[in-house]
Amino acid sequence: MLLYTALIILLLWAFQIVFLNTYYQQMKKASIIRAGTQILSHVGDEDFSSYLDRMAFDNHMCILILGEDGREQYSIDMLGRSCLIHTSAIRTIEDTLLPVLAGEEQKVVEIVEDRHFKFPNQALIYAQNAAGADGGRITLILNGTISPIGATQDLLENQLGMLTAILVVVAILISGLVGRRLTRPIKRINSRAKRLAEGDYRADFEGDGIEEMEQLAGTLNFAAEGLSRVEELRRELVANVSHDLKTPLTMIKAYAELIRDVTGNDPEKRDGQLEVIISEADRLTALVGDLIRVSRDEEAEREMVPERFDLSEEITTIVERFSQLCPDYQILLEGEGPFPVEADRRSISQVLYNLVSNAINYTGEDRKVTVRVKTERERFRVEICDSGAGIPKEEQALIWERYYRSRNTHQRPVAGSGLGLSIVRGALMKQGFPYGVESEPGMGSRFWFSLPKAGQ
Ligand code: ADP
Repeated sequence: MLLYTALIILLLWAFQIVFLNTYYQQMKKASIIRAGTQILSHVGDEDFSSYLDRMAFDNHMCILILGEDGREQYSIDMLGRSCLIHTSAIRTIEDTLLPVLAGEEQKVVEIVEDRHFKFPNQALIYAQNAAGADGGRITLILNGTISPIGATQDLLENQLGMLTAILVVVAILISGLVGRRLTRPIKRINSRAKRLAEGDYRADFEGDGIEEMEQLAGTLNFAAEGLSRVEELRRELVANVSHDLKTPLTMIKAYAELIRDVTGNDPEKRDGQLEVIISEADRLTALVGDLIRVSRDEEAEREMVPERFDLSEEITTIVERFSQLCPDYQILLEGEGPFPVEADRRSISQVLYNLVSNAINYTGEDRKVTVRVKTERERFRVEICDSGAGIPKEEQALIWERYYRSRNTHQRPVAGSGLGLSIVRGALMKQGFPYGVESEPGMGSRFWFSLPKAGQ
């Protein structure tokens, strides 16, 4: 602001004071040259004499036209005593006129000092050779006036001085005010941001009505909200994972102690209890595996390699694996293969595994899960349905987030970490395959995704 004002003042001073005189003189010179050219273009006209009168009057100047022999042909004196070309003062400007009169120069335009007058004065002299009406050479001499602009300059200087002072004061005041208005919200946002960094996610940023500040405040509020959600999820995850780790560990310890102290010699009971230990250890392994995979972002980093394969083979393998793992669950398969698709095989197998494992975890009392493949025009749509409690509408968008777990804990055969669906989403999104969930509370859930058919 101050810089801008300084620039404007500088320009004003430059144009009004420094260049004023030069600019004025240039203007005067241009106008006398114009008058001279006009006069010369009328040489030979019938009413040339009265034309000269009018030009002299209009331009407030003296006109003298000399023939080649130096005799006066026309002479109009408009300026009286301040004229240089009609008085004896013409001697003082001999140096200016002689080159033209002698034919050495065609034209001269000069501002000369008028020394014959009492007060210092300046005059504008124009001399130009041209062809006369009879073909001989004539010399047109004009004497224009140059007003002394010193007084005007003083006045302008005075006014500009005052204007400069006013502008500087106003600029200082305005920049002070604007600065304070801008720095206040910046300081406030800054201190809130520090609190945010220290873990206070309630920080409420305000922009104080300044558009850019409002935008910044909005972005920071959004970031604070995101951070607070991540923090909440992190806390939930630690609670969930510790819970999921604790149960199998307690079971393993209890059964191991039981075998050592009581059933060690009873092969039947001992084998049954060892089975429990093994399956609990498997749960732990699955849970830790999930955690490692997601923390390394393995799926997200891995390059997807599309290949042609039969989706029905992949589905059968996974369904068989789960049927063995959870014999009291019924996993139904609907749809006649083969289903040739083009996709990254490993990631699709992971997607199926996670979705079927969730369906088993959350299905209803009937312990039924259905894996269905529907053939569409260019795609195969895979649906994994269960008969569980379903997912409320407001949770349906959230379940795909990493670490998100609904509050109703599950106590089912397959351990969960809140990571399964985020792995599913990552793999499908990366390959551009549509996916989703349809669910009504109490009516079970239907998770689906669709893969492009492999070309022939
Ligand atoms: P996890 O199952 O280990 O908790 P996921 O990422 O697989 O983690 O699932 C996230 C959440 O989505 C689950 O906690 C659960 O609330 C919900 N969810 C997933 N699958 C189902 C399903 N088939 N039926 C009901 N809720 C489900």
